[in-house]
Amino acid sequence: MDESGGCRLTYRELEARSKAAAALLVRLGIASGDRIAVLCPNDVRMLILLFACRLTGAVLVPLNRRLHERELRQIVGDCAPKLIWHQEGGSGPWSGSAGNVGSIGSAARADGCDGAGPCWLPLSRLDEAEEEAAAETSPQSFGSPAPSPAAASPAGSGDDAAEAAAAASRGERQDDSDRPWLIIYTGGTTGQPKGVVLTARSLYWNALNTVASWQLTERDITPTVLPMFHTGGLNALTLPVLMAGGKVICVEAFHPERMIDLLEREGCTIVLMVPTMYHLLVECPRFASADFSRMSAFLSGGAPCPLRIYEAFASRGLPFKEGYGATESGPNNFFISAAEARRKPGSVGLPMLFTDMRLAAADGRDAAAGEVGELLLRGRHLFHSYWGNESATAEALQDGWFHTGDLARADRDGYCYIVGRKRDMIITGGENVYPLEVEQLLERHPEVGSAAVVGIPHPKWGEAVAAAVVPKPGCRPSERSLQLFCADSIAGYKVPKRIVLLEELPKTAVGKLDKKTLVPLFGPPEA
Ligand code: ATP
Repeated sequence: MDESGGCRLTYRELEARSKAAAALLVRLGIASGDRIAVLCPNDVRMLILLFACRLTGAVLVPLNRRLHERELRQIVGDCAPKLIWHQEGGSGPWSGSAGNVGSIGSAARADGCDGAGPCWLPLSRLDEAEEEAAAETSPQSFGSPAPSPAAASPAGSGDDAAEAAAAASRGERQDDSDRPWLIIYTGGTTGQPKGVVLTARSLYWNALNTVASWQLTERDITPTVLPMFHTGGLNALTLPVLMAGGKVICVEAFHPERMIDLLEREGCTIVLMVPTMYHLLVECPRFASADFSRMSAFLSGGAPCPLRIYEAFASRGLPFKEGYGATESGPNNFFISAAEARRKPGSVGLPMLFTDMRLAAADGRDAAAGEVGELLLRGRHLFHSYWGNESATAEALQDGWFHTGDLARADRDGYCYIVGRKRDMIITGGENVYPLEVEQLLERHPEVGSAAVVGIPHPKWGEAVAAAVVPKPGCRPSERSLQLFCADSIAGYKVPKRIVLLEELPKTAVGKLDKKTLVPLFGPPEA
């Protein structure tokens, strides 16, 4: 359902609407393998489209509505969708470009998509699909041979899709579990966003593994507040909770007070948010007294979680834990119990039931306990490929192992700790520095709100450690005082040689720390 409770769907209704949407796609001439994109805030109709794509063989591409029009055009150019579904009223970045949505929209109203470039359709068109399908076919009950969408109307060029949808409706599914179903573009934290191709096998195994390993049941209720164009909003909890038969509430925008109200009012049991959201949640005065008695897990993921957030939850005795994942790997890979998460703050836990994990040391051997290595993951939940990028696929997927590009260590009990991204690791005078360690230390300084650590070019040491720090309100710590504070706890080569104070840290369109833009702030290398 949606946040206001205005749109509530039972599973039966979801199925009926997905079938009607599949029939509409066929009528629009969408063929198996065609991409269709969607650009909207979190909305149950994204799920309807996802299942409609499964029925027709089309591939859904949820677009990040926070991207600039130029970035969106790049992605649309990359995956070449035939249709773009957009929010009613043409909201979203592209609507700013005069009349674009309107003119393409009117072409699409003719229900044909054979012009150059994608057609735009408002999501409200999906709401009418069920009535249209009902008007064109005789009533059917589930389980009985359903109407063929192909028979419902002329199929245009969508014969394959019509056949796929009809066969799926009749329950005669061929094994198409390795066919692309969903393309999610990565956050672009390290460069250009990459189109991660996911299949039914990837989505099914991620959901199954999550239900089994995190013990989700039909009693689970989750508010989906992370964007559903991102793996965190769609795959991490939404689809697993649906697989378990639970309840999903689509939340359009994050607001800390409203989130607390929603968690209480709906009796939510599990939620996944990013650290920035948790930061705002724990700062909210209502946090101290809110009734979270039904919550079995507050999950944080997507980026390292500051230890002070663990502490805020521990002080209220609430079950808080961290998850690790990437678009390419499900995203879910680890599990930790609330009790272990309290004992081992910062750990993402043990690999889930159907996930194999390896930590590869620099020389390729398995890293010893406590030693940092690159995290490699294997399992049926992994992605299929990067869209149109064979070389990147071959680099990331080797012998069935996904090379995550992330560094991690495991303790003697096998509990894993994410140390940071391989490419963010700083090598200064031959010594490795993991920015997270220095960031966590700086964030323990009483005058520091948040910190980001990067490597900057240095003529003598190759790279030097540098930090951008956002002071707490009303504070202005000096560079020297922060350096002395660090030197008390870490080796000299890890102490930031340069520190700048910022009002806020730069973020990417998905709200992650944007380290690429930090390095130039420190100016040219020292002579
Ligand atoms: P791109 O791949 O385009 O650079 P991205 O890495 O942000 O973007 P995502 O798939 O959205 O793309 O994010 C996955 C990454 O997020 C992981 O590879 C990891 O670096 C980081 N991450 C996820 N969870 C955690 C966590 N709990 N702790 C630290 N880092 C995390």
